[in-house]
Amino acid sequence: MNAPSHPHLFSPLDLGFTTLPNRLLMGSMHTGLEDASDLSRLAAYFAARARGGVGLMVTGGIAPNRRGWLAPFSAKMTTVAEAKRHRTVTEAVHAEGGKIALQLLHAGRYAMHPLLVAPSPLRAPISPFRPWAMSPRLIRETIRDFGHAAALAREAGYDGVEIMGSEGYLINQFIAPRTNKRTDEWGGSAENRFRFPIEVLRAVRQQAGHDFIVIFRLSMLDLVEDGSTWDEIVALAQALEQNGANLLNTGIGWHEARIPTIATVVPRGAYAWVTARLRYAVRLPLIATNRINTPEKAEEILASGQADMVSMARPLLADPDFARKAREGRSEEINTCIACNQACLDHIFAGKPASCLVNPRACRETILPIPIFKPENARRRIAVVGAGPAGMSCAAELGEMGFQVHLFEAGNALGGQFNLAKRIPGKEEFAETIRYFSTRLRKANVQVFLGRRVGAAELAEGGFEHIVLATGVVPRQPSLPGIEHPKVLSYLDVLNGTQRVGQRVAIIGAGGIGFDVATFLTVLPHSSPEEYWREWGIDPTYARRGGLGEAEVTSTGRQLWLLQRTRGKMGARLGKTTGWAHRLALKKRGVQFWSGVEYHRIDDEGLHLTVNGQAQTLAVDHIVLCAGQESLNDLQAPLEAAGLTVHCIGGARLAAELDAERAIEEGLHLALKIGQMA
Ligand code: FAD
Ligand code: NAP
Ligand code: SF4
Repeated sequence: MNAPSHPHLFSPLDLGFTTLPNRLLMGSMHTGLEDASDLSRLAAYFAARARGGVGLMVTGGIAPNRRGWLAPFSAKMTTVAEAKRHRTVTEAVHAEGGKIALQLLHAGRYAMHPLLVAPSPLRAPISPFRPWAMSPRLIRETIRDFGHAAALAREAGYDGVEIMGSEGYLINQFIAPRTNKRTDEWGGSAENRFRFPIEVLRAVRQQAGHDFIVIFRLSMLDLVEDGSTWDEIVALAQALEQNGANLLNTGIGWHEARIPTIATVVPRGAYAWVTARLRYAVRLPLIATNRINTPEKAEEILASGQADMVSMARPLLADPDFARKAREGRSEEINTCIACNQACLDHIFAGKPASCLVNPRACRETILPIPIFKPENARRRIAVVGAGPAGMSCAAELGEMGFQVHLFEAGNALGGQFNLAKRIPGKEEFAETIRYFSTRLRKANVQVFLGRRVGAAELAEGGFEHIVLATGVVPRQPSLPGIEHPKVLSYLDVLNGTQRVGQRVAIIGAGGIGFDVATFLTVLPHSSPEEYWREWGIDPTYARRGGLGEAEVTSTGRQLWLLQRTRGKMGARLGKTTGWAHRLALKKRGVQFWSGVEYHRIDDEGLHLTVNGQAQTLAVDHIVLCAGQESLNDLQAPLEAAGLTVHCIGGARLAAELDAERAIEEGLHLALKIGQMA
């Protein structure tokens, strides 16, 4: 057998009593499936990733008792009956040759229910609830509950547990002076604040035995005021090593930190230095995390000695076969996580099971089958018009089923609007989705015709059994006096670089595209992780507790007004987990947010409008229209009139509430439907 690609990533890791086949950990990620009474969907989800060859997986957070619930009735591990239910998961994983650990997570003051407890009664800035302070007796009981949960996890067939000691959850709340104001033996000095994590680890080790993997996820960079000092982190890591941890995973940033730590604006591998910093202090294998999404980045981190393992959570949601493809040197086939958070974390915040924007099958493995190749489909010709996310997704699925697919694209490249999205500073990852689909289309023998704007007559004569219209959208042109004035630009002009943009700019429309255009016009792309640290005030020297430093913002120097007619919060429809960072990045650059405006006209003076009841003139060089979009589906009527079978997906079907998640998903659903038609 040939040597595997990425030799460091695919070297085994010997933990003494067990050996992990490679250095890739699938990090914990809440999917919502763990809270169901039937865990078969969760089992199928993990089994697919085990089949894909990942070294070790960690479940989403499971509480050791009711008070530790993230939300009412979320998953816990407190009874033998609960442990038995998890056998579905562990057996499915082991049948695929994989290994899995259960994450023990006590939410502490982040719990979204009234039973919440914490070391001290301090409300978290991101929570509506004030926690109850834990009595010494409750602390002892909670430690016992952790131990009991670990024993049950073992009984359930898990290969280990991960103790969640970071991201600002209960254990982290004991560690940091920010949240631990106690004056008894559980607070005050570092030794007292470390007592809870160490006692939890001891209880877990004692209850679960020595031949059981125990990972401790240690917050190594809190990114909040009054977090841990570096010396405290080292001292605690050493204590954890002495008390029986097998692996130390890196935790970065509390959930209440106002610094993006996993969003697409974070450069790849931007936090590997944190793990590397601890390597001299302990002998335990260390796991690097956050924004590691390619085998190349993982290999670089391991080869340079920054860590012993790498953790990827969302990248394995995006591609269950990540490890196998990486090992076989098929990186270009990997469906790369673009760190958008839209279908994973944002779903969870909306109370829906997680999935993935670029892989709608994630967490739906039992619902959305993998297409079956049928040689007899080769006779059946299908036209897909438009190679944006919807068209690419549909064409790839159909091609994989063996259909003779012709994909027509008016532009000179695949990708549709993703070709604009990838130009936004911090959204460069969107190019990976285009690369992924182009590889997939090639492998599926889809015939791609670039630079071909097809018309109804041509399609009607093509002998196609089905015609899929994925022609997308066109920008909406508001009806406003002066809309034809030379100062007015469309976002296409700006992002395609066909027009030079002046120093003073008003943007009409503050949806996703308005925010992106504002970013494009004010933000300089980061050329190194250091620039990102500086922008967000991350201090790698840990001069202050929590690793916070002074932010240094660079800008293009443009003066910008972002406008919307609706009253209230700007960008209200941006993702819950990323919208705040977009808003903050623009505010730091002095962008003016004006909501509740009324537009009157545009002329040589600029944009005339009313804001807060006052008429104003914005004397700007340019006005950029980001006023939403309308469907482009002019081919539908003539094709249907000609008696052809026509389907519309993505923006061509409906422009309202369109995003790439819906576009890709509709492409997949339509392909499956066509595949089932006789
Ligand atoms: P499109 O992407 O518009 O693709 C349609 C394609 O059809 C085009 O390539 C067009 O050239 C082609 N076409 C049209 N007519 C013909 C014809 N007659 N013959 C041949 N080809 C034709 N969405 C998100 O979910 N998250 C984001 O972060 C995000 N960021 C964005 C940033 C920007 C700057 C922009 C512009 C969009 C962003 N979007 C984002 C929106 C997302 O890109 C769209 O929702 C998605 O591309 C819609 O997919 P689609 O396939 O329906 O249409
Ligand atoms: P959008 O989110 O619907 O926003 C359109 C904006 O235009 C709104 O702010 C709206 O505000 C304004 N508008 C609508 N009609 C108008 C009119 N006639 N005159 C003046 N203003 C008008 O659409 P989008 O920004 O074009 O984005 C398209 C899709 O791409 C979105 O649905 C989004 O999901 C997706 N996207 C997502 C992201 C992301 O980061 N997640 C980024 C980019 C794009 P008022 O009506 O209040 O004035
Ligand atoms: Fe990654 Fe976006 Fe998929 Fe989440 S939804 S796994 S962030 S690509």
